[in-house]
Amino acid sequence: MKYTLLLSGLLALLLFSNCAETASTPASPTDDATSQLTNQEHPIAIVLHGGAGAMKKELMSDSLEAAYLHVLDSALHVGYTILAEGGISIDAVTSVITILEDCPLFNAGKGAVFTNTEENELDASIMDGNTRNAGAVAGVKRIKNPILLAKSVMLNSEHVLLAGEGAENFAVSQGFQLMDPAYFRVESRLQSLRKVKEADKKQVNTHYDERLKASKFGTVGCVALDKTGNIVAGTSTGGMTNKKFGRIGDAPIIGAGTYANSKTCGVSSTGWGEYFIRGVVAYDISALIEYKSLSLAEAAQLVIHEKVPALGGDGGVIALDAKGNISMEFNTEGMFLACQNSAGMKEVKIFH
Ligand code: ASP
Repeated sequence: MKYTLLLSGLLALLLFSNCAETASTPASPTDDATSQLTNQEHPIAIVLHGGAGAMKKELMSDSLEAAYLHVLDSALHVGYTILAEGGISIDAVTSVITILEDCPLFNAGKGAVFTNTEENELDASIMDGNTRNAGAVAGVKRIKNPILLAKSVMLNSEHVLLAGEGAENFAVSQGFQLMDPAYFRVESRLQSLRKVKEADKKQVNTHYDERLKASKFGTVGCVALDKTGNIVAGTSTGGMTNKKFGRIGDAPIIGAGTYANSKTCGVSSTGWGEYFIRGVVAYDISALIEYKSLSLAEAAQLVIHEKVPALGGDGGVIALDAKGNISMEFNTEGMFLACQNSAGMKEVKIFH
């Protein structure tokens, strides 16, 4: 037990220094951007997540928790500063997600979970709430930052969703460099896969679904509202541990994992993807606002605490609306979260 804690502490420190390199120093809670913008006419807001799941506070070492909070806070600072300086939400969203994709603590980009055949297959999507243009990629294996490729699909192609080798060929045509797949490999993720496969073989302890739930979290996402009133949402993931047969989850599916409409809201989902696809979760939240006049909070709560569980799924969403209201709802034990708006709200947290 002692050794486990010691090892997880060392691992946290290692990952912490790794992630800290890619993210700048976190803002203090009384950061000038908030106070400067409090009275401005056009609100700005940003919310980001690093996945929802069965993480338990008592099983997370203090150093690992601190490492997560540090990266979340640093990424938040980067995104909020872009908006505060008059930058556009698409830049805030892609900058935040790029930081999280580069950090091996999260299940996206480097640090993605492993498929049954011990590979990393990455999915991502992005949507612009003003134009409702969208881009997505699924099952890519050699793209360092899938969110940037999704953006490229949105802006530079007539398509919405590109998959596998075709998506990588498009990437090359857009000047992306293809990575050696070894770049994505993180040993602890590989061990998680092997444990899940071992447990599958022995059929021990828990029901298959329970093991699956415990073995995935760390998808990343971000939603931002800029000074022009545009809402952009994006999501990036490695999917679920031990996924087979080219399985694709909700993250690259517009309307399920990601949705944005500047008149209603922007949403990024995380959780058991099959249920989020069946529930058309991100669009459902927008539709409840548009057609039933629910508030952002009411819509997100209804979907996450009633509609998704009624199907049998679990997970969470981050969402914001045109007024800069922010909602972070999850029906799992924890979710990695950070948010800030020009009305003075700022939060960075993992547990309820
Ligand atoms: N939603 C992702 C998927 O099903 C996984 C997650 O968010 O944890 O691929």
